[in-house]
Amino acid sequence: LDNVVFTNVRIFSGSGERPFSGEVEIEGNRIKRVSRGMSSAPQQGVNLIDGHGATLMPGMTEAHTHFGWNDQRSVEAIAFMPPEEHTLFAAAAAKTYIDAGFTSCVGAAAAKARLDVVIRNAIESGQIPGPRFLAASQEFSVLGGLGDTAPPHAEHPGLNTAYVVSGPEDVRRGVRWFIHLGVDIIKLSMSGEEVAGVPGDETLMSDEEVAMACREAKRRGKRLSAHARSAESVKMCARHGVDIIYHASYADEEALDMLEAKKDKLFVAPSIAWLVCTARNAAEFGIAPGSRVAEAYERELEIACEAMKKMKRRGIRVLPGGDYGFAWIPHGTNAKDLEYFVELFDFSPMDALLSTTKLGGEIMARADELGQIAEGFLADLLLVDGDPLEDVRILQDHDRLLAIMKDGKFHKKPEAQRSSVR
Ligand SMILES: [Zn+2]
Repeated sequence: LDNVVFTNVRIFSGSGERPFSGEVEIEGNRIKRVSRGMSSAPQQGVNLIDGHGATLMPGMTEAHTHFGWNDQRSVEAIAFMPPEEHTLFAAAAAKTYIDAGFTSCVGAAAAKARLDVVIRNAIESGQIPGPRFLAASQEFSVLGGLGDTAPPHAEHPGLNTAYVVSGPEDVRRGVRWFIHLGVDIIKLSMSGEEVAGVPGDETLMSDEEVAMACREAKRRGKRLSAHARSAESVKMCARHGVDIIYHASYADEEALDMLEAKKDKLFVAPSIAWLVCTARNAAEFGIAPGSRVAEAYERELEIACEAMKKMKRRGIRVLPGGDYGFAWIPHGTNAKDLEYFVELFDFSPMDALLSTTKLGGEIMARADELGQIAEGFLADLLLVDGDPLEDVRILQDHDRLLAIMKDGKFHKKPEAQRSSVR
């Protein structure tokens, strides 16, 4: 049996147009036909899926994914997990994402040097289920920065989540080493982070180190991403050509001008759920609301919301996802970001959905074949019970994802009564 035809579906195409009723035919791993209305001719030799009015939309993209964050309560708990258990954990996490409707994920730092690469390769070879995945390096962090988790009396790279560097030559060697390991993206940790004991608006990495990383990565055609909360770190990203900027909470007017000038090249992913949940939902894991750390995240949240609204107005591409994989923000709950985009950044539901579909294809560097329902595009699709434009929160309910398709194959098949062989 060859082609799959979704009929009687409401199509959210991801192009920006309003949804329409119609049919979508899949041949191999690509979308062969998108038509409005129902075809009158009886169709032979196809697997016909009757959506009964359900929404068919492109698979979602998570812009800031760590399969190696292990749903525990600290960065140390990630670092100290032995590699064997860690690999198994990351493989299971990868399945969690596609189960949740994310058919593409951008790796945003591996917890161990080869972890992202190994998981990407296992997904691509069909060894384990998972989304399309861009593998990241460990995050490059300066001595004492985020992810330098080894105790000071026993410095050892095996006790850090980060790849700890000091100076441009360290950075150069690291970039070359991670490219040798096979990563798609070099990740830099440039600013502070409250849970790591350094205020988010502080900048730890030097301009020379960032310049070196960008020069070496780009020489080899690799992209870069950065943990950049402070205004200065955001400016360094824009100045040196970091492609994907995470957090960007404290971006000031000068930083916003610099981002806007390069808005067709770069992406911003604020990782909003991390701010909300760490400030408000982490009491049972040691971060009580009202505590110093929680208050710091409350302040950052307020500032970040204003920055994201401004970015949206300036046409800077802002995408959902980020830093899921802690006890209070576990893997698989990632669609929460869409709710926060609407609630806190004043995104329309349409814009929130486009940020995880159309912009998802763009951040995966496959804008011409990923992130939309259009003829010739890759068949990454979700069949959703209900209308996410009416309420984006329904995407958080995995039972309402009636079918999940990646690359033309069902990861989750629709129930038998929807499907008939013609
Ligand atoms: Zn992160």
